[in-house]
Amino acid sequence: MTETTQPSRRITILREEVARKIAAGEVIDRPFSVVRELLDNSLDAGAGNLEISLKAGGLASVQVLDDGQGMSAEDLQICTHRHATSKIREEEDLYRTRTLGFRGEALAAVAACSRLEIVSLTEGALHANRLRVEGGRTEALEACRGAKGTRVEVNDLFFNLPVRRRFLKSAAAETAACRRILLDKALAFPEAGFRFFTDGRLKFFFPPADLKARICAAFSLEAAHMEIVSGEGEGFQLTLIAARPELARRDRRLLRIYVNRRRIEEYRLIQALEYSYADFMPGGRFPVCFAFLEVEGELVDFNIHPAKKEARFRDPDALRRAIRELLSGYLAAFSGGPRSAAAAPDSAGSSSGAGTGGFFPAQGFRPGSQPPWPGGEENAYVRLPRPRKPQENEAGPPPAGPLYRGQLFRLFLLAEYGQRLFIIDQHAAHERLIYDRLKSRRSSVQELLFPMRFETTAEQAALLEQRREFLTEHLGIGLVRREESVFEILSLPEEMISLEEDVLREALLTEESGLEELAHRLYDLAACRMAVKEGEELDDETAAGLVRAAFTLEQARCPHGRPLWVEISREELLKRVARI
Ligand code: ADP
Ligand code: MG
Repeated sequence: MTETTQPSRRITILREEVARKIAAGEVIDRPFSVVRELLDNSLDAGAGNLEISLKAGGLASVQVLDDGQGMSAEDLQICTHRHATSKIREEEDLYRTRTLGFRGEALAAVAACSRLEIVSLTEGALHANRLRVEGGRTEALEACRGAKGTRVEVNDLFFNLPVRRRFLKSAAAETAACRRILLDKALAFPEAGFRFFTDGRLKFFFPPADLKARICAAFSLEAAHMEIVSGEGEGFQLTLIAARPELARRDRRLLRIYVNRRRIEEYRLIQALEYSYADFMPGGRFPVCFAFLEVEGELVDFNIHPAKKEARFRDPDALRRAIRELLSGYLAAFSGGPRSAAAAPDSAGSSSGAGTGGFFPAQGFRPGSQPPWPGGEENAYVRLPRPRKPQENEAGPPPAGPLYRGQLFRLFLLAEYGQRLFIIDQHAAHERLIYDRLKSRRSSVQELLFPMRFETTAEQAALLEQRREFLTEHLGIGLVRREESVFEILSLPEEMISLEEDVLREALLTEESGLEELAHRLYDLAACRMAVKEGEELDDETAAGLVRAAFTLEQARCPHGRPLWVEISREELLKRVARI
């Protein structure tokens, strides 16, 4: 053992009783899990700069270099033992710790299945030390030269577990997985710099930045398209980096949740993000939004998943409500109503200034800064057109109100309003009107001639019982329990009368949706069901009424987010026939 001026040992081996309290499970199964654990350790050590290098996708070697607090020789000596950690001592610490790691298992697991080398230097020590472990056996611990911080090199992963090794993917697939993990960490720790090398070549470098700048850099997003909104609740803080609603994607990949700097796959919270944007997203399009929660230790438990990908919250609903509230505040500015149009900051490059708003949808890939790596699947953004209403200050006489000019293709209603032609999707517009009427509870409730009766299992009965009060009081769905497992619907809002029994039943019994989502779903079903369809011929009076009503809407989008109309200005038409 070498001497140092700092013989302090921070790491201890957890007592058996404490170790038993820790969620067990495989920590290391592929190169990316090595990357994840090593990055966590560097970040826990307070690193301001991290360098990650892979050889052959990490199959040959994974190396992580940091400038954190380092380890003394004493610490190096035991850091690869099971349950060796400097982060917790007692069981209570499990609930208090803010570090990413606390199980004391990662280095032990890595050491057991690789050729591991760690070089580390602590502040004020005379020299660095190097530890070498092969397949779990310590080979050497000796003094050496080194810079402050720690370099961990993991060579020949699973060299002693040939079967495991055979199940690894190609170097390219492993590299991609490592890159994803690295991005996850880089987003959570924007104040740290990250460099990523593969086979000796620098793939990307994120200099220390603030949260929004880091996100923009990581996904080639433009700062002008992203907004920071934040708020506070009982025991938690929430920061959202939210994209303007015109920025949509074909997948949910940029809907992300972080809690206490850990990315978690919490479906309900991701859903809360998604639903908040629902009014703006056509089917198959998903918004871009990142939620960062800081939750007090007692209100969240990460000790349920070995890789801490899940968390258990004391009050998940409070978090979901907070997300929806914050986002609806932000998104209100985009809803297209005459009041809100002024409030919405105009999007750079949107077509609204040119007066073609939405007629030639500016869909397609978002141009922008060079992505930090090639093969930009992360860059599949779609720009959605934003519907707008005629503005008071537009040229021409003040509009008297929309004038209905006829039906087209048995689908579109043509309206003249101000100096513009509106081509309105009759189904979508009607849908939105019905949806809004249900939502604002302006609809009248009707007694059913024949109650809808249905039988349930015990679990379904319990679920319905929980929802009964909400359904009756908020949605006007008069649900009563007849027997242990028999329920009846006695009344419905008039817009829901024509919903089929099994559709209604299925919606009411869908388990994973919260009350708000349940309401959304029912309104949605009813609106779609009751609205005039494509192919229906409308008499003039009905059509004109629909057109007038459409222009009173707050949201010029159908409940699924599609725009209700396209519009084209008189000037535009004149240009098209070369009159001007
Ligand atoms: P855990 O992170 O759960 O404590 P690990 O097995 O990952 O367990 O690491 C064991 C200990 O080694 C850590 O508690 C820490 O004290 C020390 N350690 C590991 N990596 C580093 C590093 N990069 N810098 C400083 N200390 C480290
Ligand atoms: Mg760790």
